[in-house]
Amino acid sequence: MEQTLEGVVRAWDGDGVFSAYDARSESWVFIAIHDTRLGPASGGTRLERYDRPVDGLIDALRLAEGMTYKWAGAEMPYGGGKAVIARSRSLDADERDALLDFYAARLVSLRGAFQTGVDMGTTPEDMSRIGTISGHAVGVSPDRTEDPGPYTALGVFVGIRAALAHRFGSPDVAGRSILVQGVGDVGLPLAEQLSEAGADVRLVDLDDAVASAAAARTGAAVVSADEMWSQDVDVYAPCAVGATLNPDTIPRLRCEIVAGSANNQLLTPRDGGALHDRGILYAPDYVINAGGAIALGRIHLGERDEETLLDHVRRIEGRLSEIFAEAARADESPVVAAHGRAERYLEAHD
Ligand code: NAD
Repeated sequence: MEQTLEGVVRAWDGDGVFSAYDARSESWVFIAIHDTRLGPASGGTRLERYDRPVDGLIDALRLAEGMTYKWAGAEMPYGGGKAVIARSRSLDADERDALLDFYAARLVSLRGAFQTGVDMGTTPEDMSRIGTISGHAVGVSPDRTEDPGPYTALGVFVGIRAALAHRFGSPDVAGRSILVQGVGDVGLPLAEQLSEAGADVRLVDLDDAVASAAAARTGAAVVSADEMWSQDVDVYAPCAVGATLNPDTIPRLRCEIVAGSANNQLLTPRDGGALHDRGILYAPDYVINAGGAIALGRIHLGERDEETLLDHVRRIEGRLSEIFAEAARADESPVVAAHGRAERYLEAHD
């Protein structure tokens, strides 16, 4: 059945969606607000080309719901929201700027009911522009733009420690073999921390120059994309694209633990069960990759002390330990335990 704007909104259980149409760029703006029990909705702004506006709306609703669980999992005072700017064609620089200004004016009209940060198709410079107009962009201030990558990397690092402790009885990464897939904004600082802590780091990146530069900086070994699935490692840390855990790859995995930053690592929720059935410990993505959101969210709330910010990010280790323990007790996937924990947190703060 063909999905329509009305049908998709009718079927959604979130709080609501704000929509606007920018005639000049022929683009739609959808700001989806899923759940505000914890605080005002906050989530990234995605600017992509969609064949039909309804496809942008579907993305906004799905991603807003994901943010509800991400904030609850991180115990942050924000609600789940996400914005999608759905363009129908390519835009020249002036049209794109005007569209961002149009979007920022909608944020002004919402008066803080939704605040936003970078997502696919938007840049920190875009956020500066949006933030200057609206005052509702997270991670930007007049004098600096915050980079969430190193905070996210720290969260993944401590998350790997929690997983190692659960599986092997010690959180120590020294001597552990860890395959980092993607050495960009998150993967590179992660590989650096792991190497410094004595891990046997192997890295893979589609961009050969990026892989070589990261190897030179960290002393890690480079593995080709073809070789990566045959690597016997303790930890596979996906830090590139989503959906790398699917019915095709899960039977081929040769690791004890999957713990990385990529968003939407599971192709479908069933893949969490498949990992559990194979005895592979999986760190739910939205819990382990929340470090950047935690730090930038706290900065937005007024926290300036770097050590306090890092402490908040480091709490991911304890949270994941509890999720792993709960999942083990119930003999279920950590995906199920993380979801239940987030639901309980939401209910407790209703
Ligand atoms: P990035 O674009 O800076 O780096 C990604 C790297 O992965 C690039 O070097 C790219 O060449 C490489 N790559 C892409 N496809 C690949 C593949 N199939 N195999 C191997 N390498 C591949 O991105 P990032 O900001 O480091 O984010 C990485 C992942 O973590 C993304 O899924 C992102 O959504 C997620 N994430 C990032 C943050 C953050 O703070 N940046 C926070 C939460 C989640």
